[in-house]
Amino acid sequence: MTCLLVETIISLTSAVATQWVEGKMGLEEYRRKREFRKTPEPSGKERGGGENRFVVHKHQARHLHYDFRLEMEGVLRSWAVPKGVPLEPGVRRLAVQVEDHPVEYLDFAGTIPEGEYGAGTVEIWDKGNFELDQRASDRLEFTLKGEKLSGGYVLIHTDKNNWLLLKRKEKSG
Ligand code: MN
Repeated sequence: MTCLLVETIISLTSAVATQWVEGKMGLEEYRRKREFRKTPEPSGKERGGGENRFVVHKHQARHLHYDFRLEMEGVLRSWAVPKGVPLEPGVRRLAVQVEDHPVEYLDFAGTIPEGEYGAGTVEIWDKGNFELDQRASDRLEFTLKGEKLSGGYVLIHTDKNNWLLLKRKEKSG
């Protein structure tokens, strides 16, 4: 009885953990949080395919943070990175996964009005393309080709919606 319960809990937990990477969330939560008559943000569409673009937004909301977004399966997988994307290997940054954003958000910059979700200014801090190097349920490895950011990075899922973002050491030779 106890054994069955434990097994059930383990399978549920791994199902949730897997979902973070493998199953995209879609845009329902993104849309539910926003009133598009009031915010300049795009309502957007889900698309097929994708061009492997990324963007980092500098978001001066109540607390300054950076939003790191990777184009995957027609949406932007998104993480809020309070201290910003590391520029050097050896620095681990907390990255909290947030709702998928529409690909139109790649070009978004502007001011979200007071009283709306994420109120504050959003500017593009960096953008470019990436190559996906490795993908597992708890790990994404990719190489960024942006203006400020370049080289190999890893996102490691730790628990719930928490991930660690770090820059890989460049292979010498
Ligand atoms: Mn944000």
